[in-house]
Amino acid sequence: MWFKRDLRVHDHAPLVAARAYPDALAVFVIEPEWLSSPDCDASHVDFALACLSELRTALAERGLPLLVRVGSAVAVLAQLQREVAFTHLLSHEETGAAWSYARDRQVALWCLSKSVNWQQFEQTGVTRGLRNRAGWAKRWQARMDAPLHLLDGKFTAALALEQPALPTLSSLGLSPHGKTLQTAGERAARRTLSSFVQVRGYGYRKALSSPLSAEEGCSRLSPHLAFGTISLRTVHQATELAIGNTPAREMAYALRGFAGRLRWHCHFMQKLEDEPDIEFRNFARVCDGLREDAFNNKHFDAWCAGRTGYPMVDACMRSLLATGWLNFRMRAMLVSFASYHLWLHWRQTGLFLARQFLDYEPGIHWSQMQMQSGTTGINTLRI
Ligand SMILES: Cc1cc2nc3c(=O)[nH]c(=O)nc-3n(C[C@H](O)[C@H](O)[C@H](O)COP(=O)(O)OP(=O)(O)OC[C@H]3O[C@@H](n4cnc5c(N)ncnc54)[C@H](O)[C@@H]3O)c2cc1C
Repeated sequence: MWFKRDLRVHDHAPLVAARAYPDALAVFVIEPEWLSSPDCDASHVDFALACLSELRTALAERGLPLLVRVGSAVAVLAQLQREVAFTHLLSHEETGAAWSYARDRQVALWCLSKSVNWQQFEQTGVTRGLRNRAGWAKRWQARMDAPLHLLDGKFTAALALEQPALPTLSSLGLSPHGKTLQTAGERAARRTLSSFVQVRGYGYRKALSSPLSAEEGCSRLSPHLAFGTISLRTVHQATELAIGNTPAREMAYALRGFAGRLRWHCHFMQKLEDEPDIEFRNFARVCDGLREDAFNNKHFDAWCAGRTGYPMVDACMRSLLATGWLNFRMRAMLVSFASYHLWLHWRQTGLFLARQFLDYEPGIHWSQMQMQSGTTGINTLRI
């Protein structure tokens, strides 16, 4: 069972499938390709390590050891195969940045060469190998309404291998990030969800606009969805249940607005799944050459540091640098300012923001970077 960005026990299809095998082992691979990618930050790794620590305990209680190994995925899997000669590999599908796509293709080839059967399960509303969008919304709804994958009972004959302590940021060669992050882990994700659908969500539609009210009034589930400490299906079903149960019409109205955004999550990820190039290239190729030669490093440095001299821009950037989170409108404003007022290309500003956002989700991120920079060719320019 290969854990990727799905660090949870509940609603985990591969984990449930792994129970059908006489022997099982779980592994998470900390890949140098991830650590050295230009969109990775120590804060992401820190959050993942905290999630892994909780997950390891939760899995141990269910009789499944979780190995955490450092190395390239193929090298780690090859070594593991020498140790335990596994025949099946189970994981979720991943719609990630270019390095993870390249790694998945290498793993697929390796599995083929070793006759290892790699089964990948969907975990969002993203459809792999989509030819066109016909029926997409219906399929999304059906997946989100489907019963949760619940793990009952314990793993009885899990393979025993030595489990060294989890690595730390410093043992991985990373410096402290200095941010005050949201609490990591599946328990925190579930607490965050229930406080939102039961109480905090009440004023959602109003609260999401201002960075001051949004901090409490938005769900704050994004890092949990990005690292998979909660499934989108769990969030969707809890939201629908709360809408059905609340006697307050305002609450139901607020939660409906929130529910729509869960669909956007997959809608944007689908774009990257279908066109992995949008991480690097303009959606509308007619925009090629627009900003490429105009990059002003002084402007970029000032923007990154929150020292442009525009108070609202700088306050938002500094808040982001301190916490790893910012509400949607202020993210859009930061990008709009960088792309129009400073005429900076979205790729460099996007990499910087990807490192700052604890919830970095490549499919949403690169689509939004391009939308707020006017390079999609389908929306009016947003300044
Ligand atoms: C330039 C830019 C970059 C962004 N990069 C990311 C990113 O890397 N990861 C990320 O999760 N979100 C990203 N967003 C979208 C949005 O800002 C965040 O999802 C949101 O602020 C997260 O906070 P929340 O979970 O409290 O949001 P809520 O308002 O509570 O929304 C709940 C969930 O709905 C989804 N969602 C909300 N708004 C959007 C949207 N506009 N598009 C797609 N899905 C949405 C997210 O999964 C979010 O967690 C970006 C927006 C912009 C403008």
